[in-house]
Amino acid sequence: MTTTSTNLKAVIAQPKSDKERLNAAFKQLRAHKFVAKQNFLCCQTCGWAEIGAEPKDALFYHRQDTEHALKDGKLVSKLYIAHRISSEGRGLLVRAIFADNGFYAIWDGSDSSRIALVNMTPELKAISMLRTADRVCSKDGHEWGWQLQARELIKNAEKSIGVRS
Ligand SMILES: [Zn+2]
Repeated sequence: MTTTSTNLKAVIAQPKSDKERLNAAFKQLRAHKFVAKQNFLCCQTCGWAEIGAEPKDALFYHRQDTEHALKDGKLVSKLYIAHRISSEGRGLLVRAIFADNGFYAIWDGSDSSRIALVNMTPELKAISMLRTADRVCSKDGHEWGWQLQARELIKNAEKSIGVRS
């Protein structure tokens, strides 16, 4: 027979659903002063109209995105996120927050392309570490040979997941 305490253990040990991890990521974004909304209105036009021009950093996905990407709390397709991000540093923070919650952000860093979220895999984790190393090493102005290879790997890995442009 199960007891209350073993039931409790089962609950605690249960891995978080994709949606729960997504909730955690958006909560962290808000804690870092991003306007961050999930399942927000019907489309990008209405979303941006509601958020307005004031917030420097804002991210959201709308109801059509939800319907496309989430089924029963599971990420079944890339989740596209509209955004306005004020600096490269803030963009890196966004990537890091999603990575900490088990998501890889497919994103070229530009304002014009939406961020596409997929579940993190060991390969993607390696890719995101390469991306960080590339960025850190680029700071001193010298470009090492491996960085070009790293960028090629990142490009191919993202292409293999399929990036909608
Ligand atoms: Zn709309």
